[in-house]
Amino acid sequence: MSAQHEAGVATTHRVVILGAGYAGLSAAIQLACRVKPSENVRVTLVNAQERFTERLRLHMAASGQPLAELSIPELLEGTGAHFERGWVTAVDANAKTVRIDDERVLPYDTLVYALGGVADTSAVPGAEDHAHTLNGAQDAEVLADRLARLGSGTVVVVGSGLTGVESAAEIAERHPELTVVLLGRGEPGAAMHPKARAYLRAALDRLGVRVRSGVEVVKVLPGSVELAGIVDVAGRVDVAGSVDLAGTGGPVGEESVAADVVLWTSGTRVSPLAAAAGLTVDEGGRIVTDTALRSVSHPEVYAVGDAAAIRQGYGVMHGTCQGGMPTGVHAAVSILRKLRGRRPRPFRFGYYHTPVSLGRHDAVVQFTHPDDSPRRLHLTGRVAVRYKETVTAAPWATWGRMKKMPASGAFWPRGGRFTRVGGAR
Ligand SMILES: Cc1cc2nc3c(=O)[nH]c(=O)nc-3n(C[C@H](O)[C@H](O)[C@H](O)COP(=O)(O)OP(=O)(O)OC[C@H]3O[C@@H](n4cnc5c(N)ncnc54)[C@H](O)[C@@H]3O)c2cc1C
Repeated sequence: MSAQHEAGVATTHRVVILGAGYAGLSAAIQLACRVKPSENVRVTLVNAQERFTERLRLHMAASGQPLAELSIPELLEGTGAHFERGWVTAVDANAKTVRIDDERVLPYDTLVYALGGVADTSAVPGAEDHAHTLNGAQDAEVLADRLARLGSGTVVVVGSGLTGVESAAEIAERHPELTVVLLGRGEPGAAMHPKARAYLRAALDRLGVRVRSGVEVVKVLPGSVELAGIVDVAGRVDVAGSVDLAGTGGPVGEESVAADVVLWTSGTRVSPLAAAAGLTVDEGGRIVTDTALRSVSHPEVYAVGDAAAIRQGYGVMHGTCQGGMPTGVHAAVSILRKLRGRRPRPFRFGYYHTPVSLGRHDAVVQFTHPDDSPRRLHLTGRVAVRYKETVTAAPWATWGRMKKMPASGAFWPRGGRFTRVGGAR
């Protein structure tokens, strides 16, 4: 029996969910659809926009392919969850309130923190002012507009992670008139099986993307990016300055690469709100959780998705949609278990794939072990394109299904022996 029923008080338990991305929407729909009217729970989902941002398609939007109009309030219809549009400006963990647009104050009994993350443009001088990002639909549309008007020139994509690879490929395919340069410390697809990595690299070459790995971008200027030197795969830096950048779009000097447009995809930064509220965060600002996904310092706060530092047997999870949705579902189920006087179960998740688009006509899908290390198995070409599109379109359809059958959202790979922490089963 819940504490409120024991006390004989039928007060409403207020659950406020911050952020309607992949993790926050999963939490809101699960909770609202599983809770019984007699349990007196009010679910409020707060998000900056009414339109759902399909982050998985932002590289497509950046190259001029329009995103679908997906309405969050319409998705929530019939679930009982309330939608509150606004920008969260503060969390007061002592008073248990959140401030929206600096004017409204929303009290909570339980908070689900799902504000995601953005590209870390604070990492080097000039990136904030001179580089584009893919942090939201509007950013992507601004970049698309800029590329469409460019006519000719060089686009430098900084960051050889998967967002950088997908963006460089997409831009090169849609804008053959532009020179696309991909700069990063690591090799594109570095975490993949050598065969999948070679396929990815060949696809980038075919699309004309000029790849320079082992470089460290240290400054972004209005017409160029500056490199500190060359880092090899082991991270050793050779700052001799004799960097052969011939063919990357025209080096401005020994350590600069000319850039008409810079897209910054390197690193991730999270909102400072959690740290400012006094919640325990890791060195990257993510909320440190216990096994039930509650903040270790404030157990009435659950943290999910990219904004959370969630430890599994293999280490702390990195931000993905494939892991973010299960965290949202698990938080919702844990909240309900707690309200019903039961102990939440430990969260467990094992990775299973890394699908990477290489323009609209090619892709590579790397299947992985639960700790995200690559298996031999991978898909390429048309089959991989279909697989990738199915995965990208899946969340919206999954939420529709969850509304009718909430339990359908509770299936994901738990990771077996890879995810056991302290004997969790
Ligand atoms: C181009 C690109 C391609 C990607 N491809 C893949 C892929 O193929 N597979 C994969 O698994 N992952 C992929 N990712 C990563 C994936 O998008 C993220 O891991 C995922 O979005 C995290 O979900 P989330 O719910 O934690 O955060 P988000 O989806 O970022 O949602 C956070 C929400 O909170 C809102 N918000 C933030 N701050 C505030 C505030 N202060 N007030 C109000 N609202 C706020 C945001 O507007 C947003 O709606 C990709 C990312 C990018 C950029």
